[in-house]
Amino acid sequence: MLTKENVLQKALEWQDQDAKYIVEQATAVYSEKLVLACSLSVEDLILIDLLSQVTNPVRAFFLDTDFHFPETLETKDRVQKKYSQLDLETVKPLLTVEEQNAQYAVNLFESDPGQCCKIRKVEPLNRTLRSYQAWMTGMRREQATTRTNLQVVEWDTKREMVKFNPLAGWTNKQVWAYVLEHQLPYNPLHNQGYPSIGCSPITCTAPVAAGGDIRAGRWAGKGKVECGLHT
Ligand code: SF4
Repeated sequence: MLTKENVLQKALEWQDQDAKYIVEQATAVYSEKLVLACSLSVEDLILIDLLSQVTNPVRAFFLDTDFHFPETLETKDRVQKKYSQLDLETVKPLLTVEEQNAQYAVNLFESDPGQCCKIRKVEPLNRTLRSYQAWMTGMRREQATTRTNLQVVEWDTKREMVKFNPLAGWTNKQVWAYVLEHQLPYNPLHNQGYPSIGCSPITCTAPVAAGGDIRAGRWAGKGKVECGLHT
């Protein structure tokens, strides 16, 4: 097991290893106590593909905020069909949208996206992770200024557990080369100007002009760059 004390040393040791090696190490050490946080991003599809080569079942969870694009939910179906060993749990928030509207505000995602993400993403994530000792994400350093120091393995101080980021050093070009070469069933919205796909309200996910920053369409103009899962 990795500990708070030795995780940094492992991160340095593994920083130049390929993603499959990190995935192998993570599954070898944590087995059924490891879970992939899967938003169905292209990075997550790569990790499902790599995990399926080294373990069975592949444990993952999807946070269903009730605000996803239909294309995202269709992608979920296609991914589950392709990977029979994928055990993808769908996790819902404690409040329905109607309850949230009544207790907070209608369209809370506009008036207070931080609170909306807290209810619909952060609480369900924390609740799910309580059953595990390590989690895996598709985060990459290149994605945002908040991620430039990302390591392939880290200690998640908030949740007191290990967090693997096997694609930390990958570029967008590398990601898409893998996706296309292995014909992964990616979200068709990527072909319609959405480099990063979250919830469907336009204030949460907007299309980005060609060549623009990949996360420029997320909460544009709201002073928010992360949903709170990784901060
Ligand atoms: S991304 Fe938008 S709709 Fe989704 S949980 Fe966050 S604020 Fe709410």
